[in-house]
Amino acid sequence: MNASANDASLIAGLELGGTKCVAILASGPDRVVARQAVPTTSPEETLNALESLLEGWDFDAVGIASFGPLELDPTQHDYGRITATTKKGWEGTDLLRRIERRFGKPTGFQTDVNGAAIAEARWGAARGLRDHCYITIGTGVGVGVMSGGRPLMGVAHGESGHMRVSRVPGDTFAGCCRFHRDCVEGLVSGPALAERFGCSPADVPDTDDRWCLFVHDLAALLHNLVVTLVPQQIAIGGGVVQDRPFLFPMLRKRLSESLGGYGSLSAWAAGLDRRLIAPGLGAMAGPLGAIAVGHDALNEAA
Ligand code: ADP
Ligand code: ZN
Repeated sequence: MNASANDASLIAGLELGGTKCVAILASGPDRVVARQAVPTTSPEETLNALESLLEGWDFDAVGIASFGPLELDPTQHDYGRITATTKKGWEGTDLLRRIERRFGKPTGFQTDVNGAAIAEARWGAARGLRDHCYITIGTGVGVGVMSGGRPLMGVAHGESGHMRVSRVPGDTFAGCCRFHRDCVEGLVSGPALAERFGCSPADVPDTDDRWCLFVHDLAALLHNLVVTLVPQQIAIGGGVVQDRPFLFPMLRKRLSESLGGYGSLSAWAAGLDRRLIAPGLGAMAGPLGAIAVGHDALNEAA
């Protein structure tokens, strides 16, 4: 059973990212009691810091929404762990069992982007929708796909952030994904842009032409998601795009060109202004994703 949108229980949420992690005490967007970020360093140091924050809080359940890849299958021996991550030192890190043991509360476990997609459906811009996506562009690129109101799962969660895409002719950047070089994550994540631009992407002005490369490569991912899933909506959040609203009109234009007026998708493309958007919950989509996941764990335990 899913939590209702007005569930009043207090949940401790842990949103783990490659650069920073957020601990949050909330029941939903209208009741956020506490929220604190800690830098992502070693697993031990980071998890200890997050657990110390939770020690001071009173809550009914915990929700973990983490960067991945994660083992989400309860039948697997490494259920609840981070698996073969690009994040140095974090491979094999146990999250779920450790937090369950420490706090003895119902604990939910999801990817950060699936969590954010669930939160957008419950409280944000995707309310009433069943088929939609949430993309984060931060330390990595992740895609949460909701299909029929649930996160889409195969044998494992999807990894569309590692999709290979066609490049701008003449663009010779090798890409920085440890596994694929120039997959989307290797081209447009924060660390990829830092390498590509030769400086922190935070220091690149909105007017800089180099954002066109970013738009081209990200729009290629969007094209592939649209032709595969035809989602009702795609929200894009994460540190790279969060404070750069100018990117959205550019992405819509490029995506529309890329779809090329293709028959069955032309009506979809005509609604791009409402289909391709910033998250309704803004920068809170990720942390509230952890809260949503915690509510679900609490209801399942009831
Ligand atoms: P996490 O990946 O830990 O969830 P974020 O979503 O905040 O964290 O993404 C962090 C990335 O965002 C970093 O690689 C950083 O360089 C990049 N970033 C932060 N601020 C900006 C900005 N204003 N413009 C572009 N990129 C930014
Ligand atoms: Zn990759």
